[in-house]
Amino acid sequence: MHQRNLAASVTPSQQALFDQGREVGLKAHERFPDGMHISVPHYHPDKALAATSKAIASGALTLYEGAFLYDDIIIRCDILTREAVGKPWRLYEVKSSTSLKEEHLPDIAVQKYVLEGAGQKVEGFFLTHLNKECYYPDLSNLFVDVEVTDDLREYLDILPSEIAKFKKMLMQQSPPDIDIGPYCNNPYECSFKAHCWKDVPVPSVFNIPGINGDKKWQFYTDGVIELSDSRLTGLNEIPQRMVDNSVEQKPYIDKSGLQEELSQLEYPITYLDFETIAPAIPRFEGCRPYGPEVPFQFVVYVEKEEGAKPTCEEYLHKDNTDSRQPLIDALLKAIPETGSVVAYYKAFEAKCLRALAEFDPANADELSSIESRLWDPMVAIKKCVYDPKFLGSYSLKAVGPALLGEAASYADMDVSDGTEARITFEKMINIKDNGSKKNQLYKMLSDYCRKDTYLMAELVKWMRQVLL
Ligand code: SF4
Repeated sequence: MHQRNLAASVTPSQQALFDQGREVGLKAHERFPDGMHISVPHYHPDKALAATSKAIASGALTLYEGAFLYDDIIIRCDILTREAVGKPWRLYEVKSSTSLKEEHLPDIAVQKYVLEGAGQKVEGFFLTHLNKECYYPDLSNLFVDVEVTDDLREYLDILPSEIAKFKKMLMQQSPPDIDIGPYCNNPYECSFKAHCWKDVPVPSVFNIPGINGDKKWQFYTDGVIELSDSRLTGLNEIPQRMVDNSVEQKPYIDKSGLQEELSQLEYPITYLDFETIAPAIPRFEGCRPYGPEVPFQFVVYVEKEEGAKPTCEEYLHKDNTDSRQPLIDALLKAIPETGSVVAYYKAFEAKCLRALAEFDPANADELSSIESRLWDPMVAIKKCVYDPKFLGSYSLKAVGPALLGEAASYADMDVSDGTEARITFEKMINIKDNGSKKNQLYKMLSDYCRKDTYLMAELVKWMRQVLL
């Protein structure tokens, strides 16, 4: 690879995804028990190849992570299995997605090319993905196998010429001169983006909210990148406002619209934020892969009446048991039976509340009542406010510091987003003793969720002050 040093290092969120993929892979091994695991790391290819040859020679019927080499390409196969020595293999490529995706096929096609080139007979190629219809505790149908043998042909036809192209490119002294494109983000975000996108200004057409990716790339292809470009017209209201106010570097506030939005709020006003997990391999009654979201934490601030000091209640589950029932019990005690419930991007809290109501029919009415009283500050801000510092984003992490100042920034927080909260929670519940490390993680989570909730209350205060 050219200039590997320019690649961004792996973020904690990406590492969590890799760890999850590994966990799913290991779970898939259980379907083909007693296999030989070629656990040699990828940076020792020769050892992995030798270990694989030895395992095959010894009569292994199932290999996990087997390594093969052909035409200068090394592959590692998730699962290779055969009925008996001398019989052909079947290959299972395991993905932690819940469906077969177009980008999975070239990956398997390369494996077919190398396996057959290396002299292995393979009779079937399968993509194994998680099953959306599998519900805990019955995990017997956790995986779905999709045979893709016939779908590989179109990729195999072009593979030799593609491989030749890649080899030529890798032999060159300098990286290929390729412009940025949709492939920088799709199907995965490329780790070289910070380097290749360094000349794209922020904000640019890529930061305009409310227009789709195709339109942004069309602007780019037409040479329209800067927001000050006079050809950037004909947008809908919100994107056009972002463009105009960014160029003029002037904030936008529609006071009468804001007044109307705020008039919907009724005391007592509750500010609510959930943090959740949705593991790939379900762990709790009625859950399937990645759903529903299981809240493990909430923070609630309640303002009883105008000007009253808000009171704070929180719940944070401490172990790896199902958090839902104790969380619901605490939530119903913390949230008043009347008044508005403020949640930033309320669609998420609404989804959690509906899932909790389904889980706990005895409290479904109370939970539905909370859902029906949700009020979203993001809706009010999108309609009535724009600040050039938003840089096109209406997330709480962008809007908070832009309107409330640096004190609203998450830069110094140990946990600074929902993904980090999940990772921290998983770490905390897997610590065996209740010592200081566990307490420290508990505090990090508590601080993060309190900050999200507190910022919502501060944003509503900011909106009110703007109207004075
Ligand atoms: S152009 Fe895009 S896809 Fe290619 S290396 Fe750069 S960031 Fe990655």
